[in-house]
Amino acid sequence: MILVTGGAGYIGSHYVLHERARGAELVILDNLSRGHEGAVIDAPLVVGDIGDRTALDDVFGRYSIDAVVHFAAFAYVGESVEQPGRYYRNNVAGTLTLLEAMRDHGVRRFVLSSTCATYGSPQYLPIDERHPQVPINPYGETKVMCERMLAAFERAHGIKHVVLRYFNAAGADPEGRVGESHDPEPHLIPIVLQAAMGTREAVGILGTDYDTADGTCIRDYIHVVDLVAAHSLALDRLRADAPSAVFNLGTETGSSVREVIGACERVTGRTIRTVESPRRPGDPARLVASAARARNELGWQPKFTRLDDILATAWQWEQKKRY
Ligand code: UDP
Repeated sequence: MILVTGGAGYIGSHYVLHERARGAELVILDNLSRGHEGAVIDAPLVVGDIGDRTALDDVFGRYSIDAVVHFAAFAYVGESVEQPGRYYRNNVAGTLTLLEAMRDHGVRRFVLSSTCATYGSPQYLPIDERHPQVPINPYGETKVMCERMLAAFERAHGIKHVVLRYFNAAGADPEGRVGESHDPEPHLIPIVLQAAMGTREAVGILGTDYDTADGTCIRDYIHVVDLVAAHSLALDRLRADAPSAVFNLGTETGSSVREVIGACERVTGRTIRTVESPRRPGDPARLVASAARARNELGWQPKFTRLDDILATAWQWEQKKRY
């Protein structure tokens, strides 16, 4: 059985549906601070915190868990700059408590949600897994620390891991069962779609003086359904006793903020009002993945390769959100 921390959150909830479709048994641990009860479909939910050792002992004692897929974390760059303590406590101390509980309960397989924010400002593009990790915001720092803890826990306690460094997760379940829902919403695509819906007046373009063709930040938007499929492949790899590994997950294509807004106008058929605004601290100008290693070693192949197709699923969700 798989323990999915953060399984009521955006990416975790898509992962649960993907694993259930393969017939896997899972249990979700989520404190619902950012997740939604409505996002839990077809798997038991334990409401609890990864930093609560008693709750962890209870879950590991009650279910026969052989692997942990760890989504539970705070993941907003801007918030991490303003409130670093929350990030170090939840992401670092929380993951440490989880790893210690795994050690004590004999669970030896771990998949970590990591991030391209661990690389900092790119020294070259596209970014491969050998790129130096010099994060420029506390969010990225916390994920580097988690990666380092995993290496130490493998050496000392034999916990095998796969680290998945996500680029920008986007889109929603094409069947409309789950999707992205944050309050307040910090992410570009839902903000732009809310402006298209009319539930938000305008989109602030956070920085128009970056060293890019149109002056706005470039990101690699990867469909959440493709992202979660890689977790299943990672788990298969761990169960086949392959060595621990690190993989980037992205489409290998960059889109600027202005290009995302243009694509949203195409997909929604609506005009979106924009306001040029100052840069958000902690944002590098360009992040684009090389995902060759995941393709070659995991056999991973993203199905959504066009930004418009990714946005179409996000738009469908935004119009019919269930939570
Ligand atoms: N962004 C923006 N306006 C917004 C929200 C985000 O221009 O209202 C920009 C942000 O500066 C970044 C990109 O959009 O360059 C993606 O940001 P998001 O928060 O979606 O993802 P992140 O890259 O922080 O994980």
